[in-house]
Amino acid sequence: MYQAFVVKYGEIGIKGKNRAIFEDALIHNIVVSLKNVEGKFLVEKEQGRVYVEAQGEFDYEEALTALERVFGIVEICPAVLTEDKGFDVLADEIMEYIDETYAEKNFTFKVFAKRARKNYPLDSMTIAREMGGRILEKFPSLQVDVHEPQVSIHIEIRERISFYSESFPGAGGMPVGTNGRAMLLLSGGIDSPVAGHMIAKRGVAIDATYFHAPPYTSERAKQKVVDLAKIVARYSGPIRLHIINFTDIQLAIYEKCPHDELTIIMRRIMMYLAEHFAKEDGDLGLVTGESIGQVASQTMSSMFVTNDAATMPVYRPLVGFDKQEIIERSIKIGTYDTSILPYEDCCTIFVAKHPVTKPRLDAIKRSESKLDEVLPDLMKAAIDSTETIWVKAED
Ligand code: ATP
Ligand code: MG
Repeated sequence: MYQAFVVKYGEIGIKGKNRAIFEDALIHNIVVSLKNVEGKFLVEKEQGRVYVEAQGEFDYEEALTALERVFGIVEICPAVLTEDKGFDVLADEIMEYIDETYAEKNFTFKVFAKRARKNYPLDSMTIAREMGGRILEKFPSLQVDVHEPQVSIHIEIRERISFYSESFPGAGGMPVGTNGRAMLLLSGGIDSPVAGHMIAKRGVAIDATYFHAPPYTSERAKQKVVDLAKIVARYSGPIRLHIINFTDIQLAIYEKCPHDELTIIMRRIMMYLAEHFAKEDGDLGLVTGESIGQVASQTMSSMFVTNDAATMPVYRPLVGFDKQEIIERSIKIGTYDTSILPYEDCCTIFVAKHPVTKPRLDAIKRSESKLDEVLPDLMKAAIDSTETIWVKAED
């Protein structure tokens, strides 16, 4: 019976000019998110709320799920949206709503009214009291409980009037796009998609780089990363994905550098290349799925050495998480089942049996300098042969 949703967003830090930017980004992202939902929707803002109004038939569950993924939303309330035709008409509509929504008329309730449009003839207190009285008159088996009502009936008066009694928590965070863009190093693993989701939650739009090593890594390993990007894009919006052929660089490292340092040198070169595309795309930082101590390449010493290769800030949203916490998040956002598909990764193919866990920057740089003659050309070739695609959420 709902044809609309009242969308509530946090208001902290979005005063003045920022508020319009925040709201417009939120509306844009809601529209994008609803594109894959059956139905047509009108999305509008009015006095601190966003209304999502279905135009005719629509898939309620799908619409709710789509809204639950949009960052910046605090609460989603399936609502009835109506025009102001006077208090008596509103009362009739609310009685009908209660009658249809609650088959059993045996609950306690409280009416919450909010008069955001000040020229409405009744103030909030009066609306709540008067509507409460009428509800009791119409449904004598109901009871008012102002402290712990089982059902909270909200009435909000703006140009249009909305009422609702159900609500779902939103994803929180900030609308993607309100906080610049960053370059995510996206592998086929469990961690980096979760890192992408977390950075997007802070309002950051995502570009991504994926390094593969054909023919050592397969087409389906690449497809897996595209599939992961599709899932992250449900939350972040479309992702520009650069697929970089890393084979010749890896072979050169393998040939010229000590094998226990392969991974760390490879990581540094990934940073160079990711940063190249980050600059092209207007990104203000790099993002990885690293977490302190998780593997040899993620000790404090290793990250010190990797980080040195980047000039941009490197964000590591998972830095303090245990693997189990990361897994729980990946299950929740829907990337886990794809991440655990057992396809080969470029890093595991050339990996050493006993990688250094306490690399020293000067030593690694010395080893890396063995590539000096070939690296510029190899990097140029990798950049020139990079395939860039836009990845959108699945229809
Ligand atoms: P993930 O689950 O994200 O693959 P991981 O636990 O396997 O992480 P590593 O393989 O050490 O850890 O990778 C650390 C980070 O480096 C990844 O989270 C990712 O951001 C980046 N990375 C690793 N391999 C690749 C790759 N092939 N393409 C792009 N980024 C990569
Ligand atoms: Mg990995």
